[in-house]
Amino acid sequence: MSRKPLIAANWKMYKTPAEARACAEALLPLCLGHSRDEIVICPTAVSLSVVLDTLAGSGIAVGAQNMHFAEEGAFTGEISAPMLTSIGVTHVILGHSERRQYFCETDQTVNLKLHTALSHGLTPIVCVGEVLAERDGGLTEEVLTRQIDKALLNISPDRASPIVIAYEPVWAIGTGKTATPEMAAEAHLLIRSEVARRLSREIADNIRILYGGSVRPDNASSLLSQPEIDGALVGGASLKPESFAQLVTY
Ligand code: PEP
Repeated sequence: MSRKPLIAANWKMYKTPAEARACAEALLPLCLGHSRDEIVICPTAVSLSVVLDTLAGSGIAVGAQNMHFAEEGAFTGEISAPMLTSIGVTHVILGHSERRQYFCETDQTVNLKLHTALSHGLTPIVCVGEVLAERDGGLTEEVLTRQIDKALLNISPDRASPIVIAYEPVWAIGTGKTATPEMAAEAHLLIRSEVARRLSREIADNIRILYGGSVRPDNASSLLSQPEIDGALVGGASLKPESFAQLVTY
């Protein structure tokens, strides 16, 4: 069993296309020749093309932060999977907690989007995680189990291998608070066993589970050295090329 670590940058709603290009240009020499991890940059939708252009041939992939589950239609403001793949996007973040919290994303829409992403050959990064009140109330296991179960509904094991899961405790996102490596590893083990129950032990052993939530250069190695943690989904610390490069090359 070997799981190639994946380090994904979520630029959220930051950077104009010109700023995105400059950041990607600055990142390139810093990550040159790096092959230990799969690296994915997820800029805002209007910057996908410039970042794709800038990173072409570098081995660094480009992902979207969201997409609609329909192929096309009267869904003003939305972007479809075929639109993303047509320009060269290979990854897509699904069910980020900010989408769940502010844009009515539900376990059901995450599941629909997961089906569509897989049908179009996109690598989906499915985000799950508990809010603080759920952790404090002892509900973490229940929440993660529900989110994984619903996300994977009717996904057949033979289609599941591209799926990446990101465990992002909501209380750790953008707050500077980080789960301890032990807390993260415990959640990852739980997620992996749920994937085994729903799909198969083999898929669970091979699926990559990222940690996300205030990952920074100073805490990266303690988190990423946990055998259960297969990489990171990084928000704030990915906005500066130097700090993101430190995470990639720690
Ligand atoms: C994220 O946006 O997925 C994230 C983990 O953000 P941050 O690293 O800023 O907590």
